[in-house]
Amino acid sequence: MGLSINLWGIRGSLPTPATPDQIHHKIVEALRLFDAKRSEIKDIEGFVRGLSPDIGSGFGGHTACIEVSSPKARLIIDGGSGLRCLGEKLMLESSGAGQGVIHILMTHFHWDHLIGLPFFIPIFVPGNQIHFYGVQDDLEANIRRVFAKPNFPVEFDRLPAKVFFHKLKPRETVEFQDIKVTPYQLDHPDPCWGYKFEHSGKTFSYCVDSEARRVTREALGPDLPLYQKIDLMIFDAQYTFLESAERINWGHASGPIGIDIAMREEVKKILFIHHDPAASDAKILEAESQTREYYESALAAARAHGAKPHEVDWQFAREGMKLHL
Ligand SMILES: [Zn+2]
Ligand SMILES: [Zn+2]
Repeated sequence: MGLSINLWGIRGSLPTPATPDQIHHKIVEALRLFDAKRSEIKDIEGFVRGLSPDIGSGFGGHTACIEVSSPKARLIIDGGSGLRCLGEKLMLESSGAGQGVIHILMTHFHWDHLIGLPFFIPIFVPGNQIHFYGVQDDLEANIRRVFAKPNFPVEFDRLPAKVFFHKLKPRETVEFQDIKVTPYQLDHPDPCWGYKFEHSGKTFSYCVDSEARRVTREALGPDLPLYQKIDLMIFDAQYTFLESAERINWGHASGPIGIDIAMREEVKKILFIHHDPAASDAKILEAESQTREYYESALAAARAHGAKPHEVDWQFAREGMKLHL
């Protein structure tokens, strides 16, 4: 029972591997901390797990790819660079038998959401079926173009797997076995569609990439259900609050914008992703602590007026996180 959500890629705009210098810095800092607490540390694994992400791990560098699965269905959101690793897992699960059926829901066609497709091994296995879904009329043309020479050596028509395209209607629900999926429009150039997933009374919304320029219920209009009483919302926080105020029309949001919507619409949990490729792990942590200050002050302001604010569980997400609803 339940819905599982695995984060295979959470970086925005461009795959962003940790540099050797950054890894060197993390090791030096971790060893310094270890040295200072050496007598108290009994368990090295536990010590490393307890380090903050800028020292112990990092947030991750792969771009958009989220796996959503239930007991009967498995869906993939977007084909960012994280899709390569998910493809390896699917190959292991299926032993490369070529009988796999894979459903990929596309939000839009910016490079960071496509770049993993030519490296998705199941698409090179005869017998597999890969189904792409999207609201945009040019879904097929955009996927075909990823495999065009001279950008990639294997042309689309020579791909060994069978590939199918399905156009979704805006705000119309489709069913994948025991998961219902409804696309809603986000605020992003070249347009972009988020998805709401429903399974066994639980809801999950994917709201990336979005600037969230429409915030009020009136402005959101027919797209409001994407945010209402959602159990888990994945939201765009590419920028700090100040950057998002400066970068109008760049198509991305910040933590406080998601907090505002979630407190009003009674969202239970938010994971913030699409971290800026130019942001260090320390800068992402700083954006998280600014969002914490904003959230605490919003709670305090509501209580000062005698209101009982809706409390939200939230964090800036790391690649590799797994959640279960
Ligand atoms: Zn993106
Ligand atoms: Zn985009």
